Amino acid sequence: MRCPGCGVDDDRVVDSRASDEATAIRRRRECLGCGCRFTTYERVEEAPLVVLKGDGTREPFDRTKVAAGVRLAATGRPVDDATIEQLAAAVEEEVRDLGPEVPSEKVGIAVLDGLRRLDAVAALRFASVYKGFDDLADFAQEITELAKKPSGQAER
Ligand SMILES: [Zn+2]
Repeated sequence: MRCPGCGVDDDRVVDSRASDEATAIRRRRECLGCGCRFTTYERVEEAPLVVLKGDGTREPFDRTKVAAGVRLAATGRPVDDATIEQLAAAVEEEVRDLGPEVPSEKVGIAVLDGLRRLDAVAALRFASVYKGFDDLADFAQEITELAKKPSGQAER
């Protein structure tokens, strides 16, 4: 960290502690060039992730909402809660890579991809309720995709 006093980029940390709200790590540093002390703060980077909906409105990405949708689709299916949480986390990671603003259909597709690997029935249910698939052609295509799955993983 460059010293604000002399500009030397060489220091040692003399003290590290959490800030009052524990939202940051506060570090006291001592410049090895001039000996002055300065403070840095380390925080979690929380870039807002925004979902652009079909009707043009935007809303913050909500992982719990994704999990709730998956849970609903997986009702009565052998998919446990931990797996659902994992799927929601994986979806968040995936859409985060797409940028600060993602179309809702991308979120839906990411969920569907993950769900398809878990349970064909849940995936189909999700596809049927998901807005992006209320077009019959999309839905038919989704059924075709599922039918292509190797036997053994198919619906029982
Ligand atoms: Zn210095």
